[in-house]
Amino acid sequence: MMAGEGATRFARAWGVPEINLLTERSRMAWMAWKQSLRDAEGNNNWTDGLDAPAPTAKQAAALRQIWPEASDEMIAWAFEMAHFPTTGTINCLALNAKGEMSGTTTTSGMAWKIPGRVGDSPIIGAGVFVDQEIGAAGSTGRGEENIRVVGAHAIVENMRHGMEPKDACLDVLKRIAKSYRNDPAKLSKFDINFYALRKDGVHAGASLWSGRVQRGYMAGFQYAVNDGTGDSRLEKCVWLLERKA
Ligand code: ASP
Repeated sequence: MMAGEGATRFARAWGVPEINLLTERSRMAWMAWKQSLRDAEGNNNWTDGLDAPAPTAKQAAALRQIWPEASDEMIAWAFEMAHFPTTGTINCLALNAKGEMSGTTTTSGMAWKIPGRVGDSPIIGAGVFVDQEIGAAGSTGRGEENIRVVGAHAIVENMRHGMEPKDACLDVLKRIAKSYRNDPAKLSKFDINFYALRKDGVHAGASLWSGRVQRGYMAGFQYAVNDGTGDSRLEKCVWLLERKA
């Protein structure tokens, strides 16, 4: 695996064009997010910080100094993104008509990554793992937790030893919970989800929590399935712990 400066140099040497994919809009959201960072004492190392989803006039003015042309909508959007950073990692597992299996996980969709952080998504065995004899598995959610249990590989091994895909995923979630002594307060700080597809087509999705509070409402975890018999559909993940609203 290559990451960081070495990967950039390698790509350059092979003539891959360098493109800055950061839009001004996203840069503004990132700046708003940086404003929101605080240490244990509540100090912010950027400006006065922000506490409420709606920016104060002062906070908005700080962004407006950098982007004098920005509309009120754009500034409001940047603050919304800072409070509810987007995610977008996709794990995709497939079984074709010949019985061949494949799997992939997109490089992490986590917003505001620390430069140099690789995450779990591209790590074979953590973000994704496929064994033609048994099945495939993958993950989204907080990668640091997954790397520690090598989640996708552990799920495939569970299936190898006879567990149903659903139980194979829940077993790994239990291992993660155990590393926090099953303390709900600590576990509530993150989400993690696993997906599994067995060689015979049986599949499952499993989340640590029954749902996630998102923009003030509880969102459940689902995964998309297409078994070749018609349209794609959403199925509910099983979950280990019940989140109270
Ligand atoms: N697993 C990804 C990572 O930790 C993030 C995600 O799936 O949202 O990089």
